[in-house]
Order: sequence, then C-alpha cells, then structure tokens
Amino acid sequence: NRTRLIAGNWKMNNDVAGAAKLADELACALPEVPEGVEVVVCPPAVDLTTVNDRIQAAPIALGGQNVYWEASGAYTGETSCDMLKSAGATYCIIGHSERRDYFHETDEDVNRKAKALMAAGITPISCCGESLEVREAGKHVEFVVDQIKKDTEGLEIADPSKYVIAYEPIWAIGTGKTATADDAQEVCGAIRATLVDVFGAETAAGIRVLYGGSAKPGNIAGFLEKEDVDGALVGGASLKAADFAAMVEKA
Ligand code: 13P
Repeated sequence: NRTRLIAGNWKMNNDVAGAAKLADELACALPEVPEGVEVVVCPPAVDLTTVNDRIQAAPIALGGQNVYWEASGAYTGETSCDMLKSAGATYCIIGHSERRDYFHETDEDVNRKAKALMAAGITPISCCGESLEVREAGKHVEFVVDQIKKDTEGLEIADPSKYVIAYEPIWAIGTGKTATADDAQEVCGAIRATLVDVFGAETAAGIRVLYGGSAKPGNIAGFLEKEDVDGALVGGASLKAADFAAMVEKA
C-alpha cells in the first residue's frame, strides 16, 4: 500500500534551454500518471525554477540533487533547504554515491542534510549502496545496514511517506550492469528490517525504498515486483522523456 515513487536524477546534464525542453516533453508525455504512483524529477540547481514552471500542469514533482543544512550565510556554492523550497522543490536527493565519492560527503553529512530537509518540509531521497569491492567480499548487506543506521541516527519521522531511501549499488550505476531483482530485494529487505529496528514496524512499513542503477523501461517491472522495492531512482533513462514516461507507465 506504499505509493510507488519513480524519481529521475538528471545529474549534471542539461543547461537551462535543455532542461526546459526535457521538462516540456515530460509534461506532454505524462499528462497523468497511474494511480498509486508518484513522479519526481531532480534537475541541476540552476534549472530548478525553469523546470518548475514547465511542469506546473503535470503530475510531476520537483526535487533537488543536493542541499546544505545551514539556513544562509557564507557557504559559497551551496543551496539551503529554503532556497530549494522557494524554487518549488518538495524532494531532495542526499548522499548520492557520486557526492560521497567525488565530494567526500559522509554519513554524518547525509544525516544532517536529512534533518534539515525534514525540518523544512522537504522529503529526502537518501541514497546508500556498496562498491563492487564490498559486494565481491560478500559484505554488501552489512555495509548498507551500517550506512542506514548512521544516516538515520536521531531522525524523527512523523510521516513515513516523507522520508525515502534509495538503494543504489555503485557497480550498477551508469554501467548498464544491473543488479538482479533478487539482489535488489535482498538489500532492500535488509534496509526495511533495519528501519523496523530504528523506527518501529509501523513507520518502517510506510517508508519507500527505491532501487537505482541502470534501471530502464525493460527491467523496471522486475524490480517493482519485489516486496521491499517501492520504486526507482533513474539516472540515464530519465534524460529521455519517452523512456522515463515508459517507466512511469510500468510502475
Ligand atoms: P543510472 O540509471 O544512469 O545507472 O544512474 C543511477 C543513479 O545514480 C540514479 O541516482
């Protein structure tokens, strides 16, 4: 009974004109979405207001790709929760593996970002996932469970539909190498069990857990059949309106 969530992470793609075009195409391809499915697109920060304007009439929500927890001040290059909100964002990705790898984001940072977003009424899409090395060592479940414990420490969740986790095995991101649906369920199930420990069964049952990593129209249905997979965080395939819309239709 969890509402499915299909989220598009545009990453560092599309200037303002390109974002306007893709947003128009999406609004046109998705005049409505299937019942019980929510859709969000997360463009680069400079494109947020443009995309927001273009998706007003469509059942598509807007999200940021990153945020800083301070409210304002001398933090060159950063974006606050209220700034995201003023641009129309109701979701924000945090802790993406690319941010962890290239920009040294830690679990403590992810935790602070989640708290700031939730205080501002923005739904975090908090990412976790193991490297190939960890997977090959057979330690992926342990690794992700540890990330979840750290990323959720001290969080208070009043409405479980307003906190989302995305499991993205790093070796499956942008590689065309997907996890199998069973791989995804193994870890998403362990994430759910951890959420039961941290927040109790009722809250854990309401939190959406997404799969991400080379998700596309041809494989999304298999993931969504799994008990603990509630949607997808889509990179490459979210940059083509027809592909993204096809994934929403299959959700
Ligand atoms: P791809 O769908 O391009 O593999 O990217 C997944 C991802 O990182 C989404 O956040």
